[in-house]
Order: sequence, then C-alpha cells, then structure tokens
Amino acid sequence: MLEVESLYFRYNGHDVLQNVSLRIQAGEVLALIGPNGAGKSTLIRTISGVLKARLGAVMVYGREISSLSPMQRARYMAVVPQARQLPGAFSVYQTVALGRTPYLGWLGKTGKSDDLAVQRALEQTQLSHLAERMVGSLSGGEQQRVLLARALAQETPILLMDEPTTHLDLEHQTVLLNLVRSLTVERGLAVLAALHDLNLASLYADRVALIAAGRIHAMGAPQQVLTSEQLSHVYHVPVQVVPHPQYGSPLVLPDGRRTR
Ligand code: ADP
Repeated sequence: MLEVESLYFRYNGHDVLQNVSLRIQAGEVLALIGPNGAGKSTLIRTISGVLKARLGAVMVYGREISSLSPMQRARYMAVVPQARQLPGAFSVYQTVALGRTPYLGWLGKTGKSDDLAVQRALEQTQLSHLAERMVGSLSGGEQQRVLLARALAQETPILLMDEPTTHLDLEHQTVLLNLVRSLTVERGLAVLAALHDLNLASLYADRVALIAAGRIHAMGAPQQVLTSEQLSHVYHVPVQVVPHPQYGSPLVLPDGRRTR
C-alpha cells in the first residue's frame, strides 16, 4: 500500500536520508526506531510530502505522491506530528474537525458525515468529554490525543505517526497503541510510527525498521531486529535483550550502569 523507494534527503549539503526503501502492507504496523538524529522525523516528513526528497519515490497504491495534489494526498495519508503547541484558541472539536478538510467542498462547510467522523474520533481517543475545551488548556498528553483524533477523523488508509506516545502516561500509551493496532486490523490501515520506546515497538509493531545515520540498518520482525548486538552497535551502549515473560517478544533492558 505504501512503498518508499531509494529515498535520499539532504539538509545543507548533509545527507540525512540515504537510500531508504520500505514497504508497508494494509493491516501492518511498521515501527521506526533509532537514536536521536537518525532521521526518523525527516523520513516521516519526506513520506508525507512536507519535505521534498532529493532522489527516490514514495508510492501510494502504486501512484507517486508527488503527482497528487495536497488534498488528494490528505485523503490517502494522515500524519500525527510530534507533540508541539497546537493553536490554543481552537476547541478540541474544531481542531479534530480540521481532519475533515480534504473532504469539504469549496465553501468549506461540514456535513453530517463529517460530524460523525469527528465524534467517532473523539470517542476512540477518549476525548468526548473535552470536546468544547480550548486546546491551549489541555495537558501535553491530552494534546497528543487531539493530534491522533484529528488524524483518525481524516479517515485515511495510511497513518504516519512521529513519536505519538512521548507525552503519554503508561495507561494512555497502552490505550493509544492498542487503538492503533485494532484499527490497523479492522480497517486494514498501513501504519508507520516512529517510536522512541523500543519495548513499545517490540510489543505493538509487526515489523521494526532500525535507522541509524539516515540509513536502514536492519528491518524485520521484532525478534530479528531487537537483538543486543544490533542495538548496542547502533545506540553505543550495552543493551540486554530478554524474552517478555508473557509474550516472549524481545524486552530491551539498558545495561550501561557503572557498578557502585
Ligand atoms: P530523529 O527524528 O531520528 O531524531 P531527525 O529526522 O529529526 O532525527 O534529524 C535527522 C538529522 O537531520 C539530524 O542530524 C538533524 O540535526 C538534522 N535536521 C533535522 N531538521 C533539520 C533542519 N530543519 N535543518 C537542518 N538539519 C536538520
């Protein structure tokens, strides 16, 4: 559904993405992991079309995204950007309703189906009770859920998420990733999520892409990618990997403490 072929991106003469290729099927979550500065955000922004690749192609259903108008693109992919200050003077409802923009006519008037999509997204992200609150008055975690709700209201087959769990507590991390997983299965979404937390990537992703210095270092099932050798090499610290006691999936433990 989403194909990225040999993508290159450069900032000020410095290659930030080099020969990045990946494919995501419908019904699949691919987690993007890697150290700070590895290029995860840049990759997501290049795929979504915010940044223009120097070389390479991004294809959606076999069509190159550069041939699509921004509105067409927005019907294919929704982005949950990194948490940052949202415009605070809008209500939660109004902000989530922005996700409907690609479907509105030239008068920009919303209809019943738009209202239903917004209500559903608010329910899914447990924000219905905050619908009338100003976004500026919400906590960081609540704002993060508003960003997800806006993307869900967009009802796209592809979801790109940049560190969606950063400001969330343990409960909301779990709720968000379980929601994304179940929508992925039920609606056949293709999801690419940059995740800082290796253990969340291990638990919730079908496959993991480990990116370092702008290149894909390894990609495959969590068991193949989340090994102590690969992680120690890329993160430059000793790491232990043990099986999760319940699921058997890799559980990553930092191992760099100096003995006292
Ligand atoms: P990650 O999301 O993995 O932490 P980024 O994609 O944010 O990494 O950054 C990748 C590299 O690109 C880093 O070296 C970063 O300093 C550089 N970079 C990011 N944004 C800019 C920018 N606007 N101008 C110049 N360099 C940038």
